[in-house]
Amino acid sequence: MTTAIPNKDLAGQRIIIVGGGIGGASGALALALRGAEVELYEQHFEFKEVGAGLQIGPHGVKMLERWGLKEKAIAGGYLPDNMVFKDAVTAETILDMDFGEEFRERYGAPYLVIHRSDLLNLLLAEAEKHGAKLMTGYFATGAEEDEEGVTLTLKNLNDGEQLVEVRGDVLIGFDGTHSIFRQEIVQDAPVPSAYVAYRGTSNMENETEDAKKINSVVGYIGPRCHFIQYPLRQGEMLNQVAVFQSPRYLDALIDGSEVPEDWGNNEEFKDAFSHTNEYIQSRLGNMWLNNWWQMADREPLEDWVVNDRIIVMGDAAHPPLQYIASGAIMAMEDSEVFAVFAAEAAAQGELNWGTVLREVSDERAPRCNRIQTTSRFWGEMWHVDGVARHVRNEAFRQAERTGWYRYADWLWDYDPSARAYIENPELGKLPPALRDWEYLLHKIDRQREEGKEGAEITL
Ligand SMILES: Cc1cc2nc3c(=O)[nH]c(=O)nc-3n(C[C@H](O)[C@H](O)[C@H](O)COP(=O)(O)OP(=O)(O)OC[C@H]3O[C@@H](n4cnc5c(N)ncnc54)[C@H](O)[C@@H]3O)c2cc1C
Repeated sequence: MTTAIPNKDLAGQRIIIVGGGIGGASGALALALRGAEVELYEQHFEFKEVGAGLQIGPHGVKMLERWGLKEKAIAGGYLPDNMVFKDAVTAETILDMDFGEEFRERYGAPYLVIHRSDLLNLLLAEAEKHGAKLMTGYFATGAEEDEEGVTLTLKNLNDGEQLVEVRGDVLIGFDGTHSIFRQEIVQDAPVPSAYVAYRGTSNMENETEDAKKINSVVGYIGPRCHFIQYPLRQGEMLNQVAVFQSPRYLDALIDGSEVPEDWGNNEEFKDAFSHTNEYIQSRLGNMWLNNWWQMADREPLEDWVVNDRIIVMGDAAHPPLQYIASGAIMAMEDSEVFAVFAAEAAAQGELNWGTVLREVSDERAPRCNRIQTTSRFWGEMWHVDGVARHVRNEAFRQAERTGWYRYADWLWDYDPSARAYIENPELGKLPPALRDWEYLLHKIDRQREEGKEGAEITL
């Protein structure tokens, strides 16, 4: 049973968090709300998020509600009426998902879109209000556990890189996809997806009449690319994301030649949408050209526990591709699950950190593995060409006619107190009909391992 928050269930527990992204900020808040003594260390001199919009589905809004931030987030964000998928070649609508009353009742929360920095600032301010200590300019170099707790070593970048040590009862590595703590579990590398994202925002006041009418999350999906639009900040701002497959990246992978460092550069961007509808092409002038994001995830990790005092969460544990818009939400759910499990154990007088960390990993890893794998699948489905594109469009139309909730329930209807994945780890698997699907990047690797080269490799 979960007790009301704020409470003092974790009073006296010293919790160290490394990383001040949305994950670390959520962790600091969820634990400060249970009375823990939280210290968060961020390497940068200020807390900041790169990029603009974040979609926060009802599974994320429910976390904000638990932490008392739902109304503030909605006031600063935007509640889209629906999510509309369109074919990127014809601009025809193929699926319209209504986010009205029925949706909100089913999932217990609305669908929100919000500026990344607005969400980060809300979480940090609230965490600080509840007593979390938030430190910037500290770079974590490693941590050692012992019988009594954990010692974190940091370089204090505010003071000539002097080494400092801090003590805690437990440490959460919320240190992102290049986590130093993940490395202690597995020495894996990011898996680049061959897709690259360009982002851009504009002031709605200066926008076209068409753009001013956008009150949805709109996704144009098409061969090897997609284009997303949605309003932010109560409609004052328009957020756009243009994503495409880099031919140079893919060619290098197939040839086995060196991958160019600047794959997805402006030259490639210039041609990447020439096969799409003219509306999309007319919007590309608004994208930022000085930066692009080479999309990558990592292979799912079965166990997040480094040792009895250290765990990884957020992108450090499960960096996803962005296609089901849940990376930040997974980090928020991780935080709440960690706080609920720890607070429950403490309230029962049975707080053993090793046990809590294992329970958190057992609940969260299967769910996040499914989200990571589904994101790969969903991305591939968006980007198909030829006859597969027509079949995909028909499947989307069919889902609208016969009801799409059944495809989304597992994602959006999550209760962090219910231990559903501990009770039934099968929930973490793809549905049986999809189990023999093979991720494109794995397919290329497999064929190379079988000795195929160049044109022998089929996609
Ligand atoms: C194009 C794109 C669109 C996306 N859209 C969505 C979306 O709509 N919805 C959604 O939920 N998610 C989305 N995501 C995913 C989401 O942005 C991430 O999953 C999420 O922000 C991860 O948060 P995090 O705190 O775990 O990691 P990060 O944001 O990477 O934060 C890690 C922090 O740790 C710090 N750090 C790292 N190492 C150290 C160290 N040694 N010492 C001290 N500090 C350290 C870093 O400086 C950083 O601040 C999207 C991602 C992309 C790329």
